[in-house]
Parts: sequence; C-alpha cells; structure tokens
Amino acid sequence: MERVLILGAGSAGVMLANRLAGILEGEAEITVVEKSVRHAFQPGFLLVPFGIYSARSCTRRVEPLLRPEVRLLRAEVQAIDPPNREVAAGEQRLGYDFLVIATGCRPAFEEVAGIEKELHSQVHEFYTLEGARRLRRALLGMSSGRLVVSVAGMPVKCPGAPLSFAFLAREFFRRRGREVEVVLTTSEAEVFSKPEVAKMLLAQAEERGVELLPDFPVEEVDAATRRVLGPRGDLGYDLLVLIPPHLGAEAVMRSGMGDALGYVPVDRHLLRTRGYGDVYALGDAAALPTSKTASAAHFQARVVAQNLAGEIAGCGAGSHYGGEALCFILTGFAEALVVGFDYKKSYEGRAPLPLLGPLHFNRITRLNHAAKLLSRWLYWHLWLWGEDFAAEGWK
Ligand SMILES: Cc1cc2nc3c(=O)[nH]c(=O)nc-3n(C[C@H](O)[C@H](O)[C@H](O)COP(=O)(O)OP(=O)(O)OC[C@H]3O[C@@H](n4cnc5c(N)ncnc54)[C@H](O)[C@@H]3O)c2cc1C
Repeated sequence: MERVLILGAGSAGVMLANRLAGILEGEAEITVVEKSVRHAFQPGFLLVPFGIYSARSCTRRVEPLLRPEVRLLRAEVQAIDPPNREVAAGEQRLGYDFLVIATGCRPAFEEVAGIEKELHSQVHEFYTLEGARRLRRALLGMSSGRLVVSVAGMPVKCPGAPLSFAFLAREFFRRRGREVEVVLTTSEAEVFSKPEVAKMLLAQAEERGVELLPDFPVEEVDAATRRVLGPRGDLGYDLLVLIPPHLGAEAVMRSGMGDALGYVPVDRHLLRTRGYGDVYALGDAAALPTSKTASAAHFQARVVAQNLAGEIAGCGAGSHYGGEALCFILTGFAEALVVGFDYKKSYEGRAPLPLLGPLHFNRITRLNHAAKLLSRWLYWHLWLWGEDFAAEGWK
C-alpha cells in the first residue's frame, strides 16, 4: 500500500488529508505529522482583540478534526530528505511514497530590530493567539493617542487582515468615545495588490478616518522613543501593532527545500516540487504567486488530493490549481468587502458559497460581514472536512 506523508496539520494539511482519505477510501496509508496538540483557526485571531471571538473558540484539538482513516503522529519534523524518501520527526525516521509539505509559515519578529524585549508589552501583534489575547487588554487600556498598525515587510499571511484590523480599531475607539488616531503603514506601494480594490480601500479609509501610509517599510522599532524606523522615515506611536515579514518553517529551511525565505518552490499549477516528482507543497509553505490564505489552501487541497489520487492509481497528476483565493476585508463592525481572484483575473459578480452566498465581489455589504462571521462555523464543520467552498465551475 502506498504511503502518503503530510507534514503539518494546519488548514492545508487537514483539508488535504480528509479530502484524500475520502477519495482513496483506505487504499493508501495517510499519515499527518504535527507538532502542536491544537489546530488554530487563524482568521479568528483578528477578532479576538475586539472581543468578537474568544481566544478559546479559535482552536480545537487536532485529532478529532481528522477522518478516522488518517493517522496522526504528534512530532516535530526536523529534516526532510527527498533523495532517500525520508523525514526525520522527533525520534523517528519516516519513509514515504508521496510527501506533502504543509508546514505553513511564521511571522518572523526577529526580522525587525528592537522588538525582542518589547514584544507583547509595548509592541503588540495579532498573528499569534497569545498576541491577540494580550492586544485585547492593550486596546481596552488605550484612551487617547496614536495607534500605528505596521506591515513591516512582505510576505505576510492574509494581507487583508491588517487593513481589517485598522478599520475595526478605528470603530472600536469611536464607539467608546476615545480620541485615538489610527494609522496603517504598509511596505508596499499599494495598500492592496489589486488596484481596483486598493482604490475602494483608500476611499473607505478616508471616510472612516483611518490614515493610510503606503510604501513605508519598517526595519526597526525604537521602543525608548516609541518610533518605527525605516528607509522612508520614522513615525511616532503610543501603541504599536506590528506585522513582520513571514518566513517558511525552519525544518524546510534547514533541509534546503526552500527558497531564500524558506518557501518551497513548486509548479504553480500542479503544486509539485520541480526537483522531486513525489514531493508536493501547498498552503502558506509553498512559494506561489497568490495570497497566503486558508481560502487559497482550500482550493490547493482539492488539486493536490486529485493529483495524489491520480498518481496512486497510476494515471498521473492531471489537476491544475489556477491561483484561486478569496479574501474578506472588514471595513467596520457591520460591513465587509469580499474580493476574489486567480492567476489571471479578479472576480466580478457573485460567489455562490454554501449557506452564505450569493456574495457580491468588490462590494462593501452587511451580508459580506455576516458571511465572514459565519465562516468560522463553515471552517470547522465543512471546509476542514474537504467540502467545496462552492460548486465547481462557479467562476
Ligand atoms: C490574523 C490572521 C488572519 C487571517 N485571516 C484570514 C482570512 O480571513 N481568510 C483566509 O483565508 N486566511 C486567513 N489567514 C491565513 C490562514 O490562516 C493561513 O493562510 C492558513 O492557516 C494556511 O494554512 P497552512 O496549513 O498552510 O498553514 P498553518 O495553518 O499555519 O499550518 C501549518 C501547520 O504546520 C505545523 N508545523 C510547522 N512546522 C512544523 C514542524 N517542523 N513539525 C511539525 N509540524 C509543523 C504547524 O504547527 C501548523 O499546525 C489569516 C491568518 C492570520 C494569522
């Protein structure tokens, strides 16, 4: 029986394992290696600082999230050795016929000088659950001054999340009658990679009183004077929320499987590594020209599951990923924008999502906001189990 080894039980790893198990019905041995006991619904981290979600509701134990045919091994992957078809995890050496790297990526706080001692005290973040929980207390305690949200450099997971955070923060303070100025700095020339979306967001920011400062990379934080510093100048803050550039998993970097930032180069359609025909990568771990989102991981999992099933059946890999991704941007506590795109185009019209839709792309609506809140339920109960976002051919 063929052995499929999946590294990482995050969004991509769990979606893939469950989908593949559903297709193969016991005809291959599927093992997932995961270092953490709990799986995180990371999109929920954005809402924890505002008290919309509790921290507890954003994680669940990994084991019950996997179909019974999938074996879970709790161990940390140390090294990947494709020439010998082996992975070192904990004390074990695991052989495989097909390997899938789904180890995600991490916010690399060490890439921004001066924050080590200040992290979670003066400098905050919401890209980890602990960070989101502490940031809630900091926001509750802020009565005036300037809140700076800084995307220090790229790439980052879900580039829409810092924008959503800035809009939510502005409304959070306004509702409490507190005079807090909210400034969002981004390292990129545009606040969002799609020009038509960037234009809408600029208009929203102006209307809602959020100051946007694009093209402002941050290299250093001077905690003594409370300033962020970069090649384009410096900016003072009273409270700083920093999103550092992200790097691939250390095990990937250590094994020489990644590019300079630790992302695994793959064929952007097949999601298979170029050097090794039996090694795939998907989700945040893969070096792909699309956004690092759970929605992208969802579409990728469908493709990798079909390709692995094809390879195991001896028919080869014929399924192609087209770069599909969806992104919600909350413009306040009641409205949101939904955008969708693939390698070739941005989506127009409507997305027929189960229970949620039809959602209007490129419009700011209350329904989009409700859909964003409902997506946590859909994630736990449908999407992790390999259910489709929408009917095939909806685009
Ligand atoms: C604040 C925030 C908001 C977001 N908002 C959205 C959103 O609105 N919509 C959206 O679609 N996406 C959003 N995302 C992004 C989304 O959560 C990620 O893109 C998604 O989780 C990627 O899935 P993944 O499986 O590739 O990585 P992850 O989910 O991070 O999983 C990687 C897994 O690999 C494990 N792992 C890593 N290294 C090892 C090792 N050496 N050994 C064993 N296990 C290992 C980790 O423990 C983890 O479980 C958001 C993320 C954040 C942080």
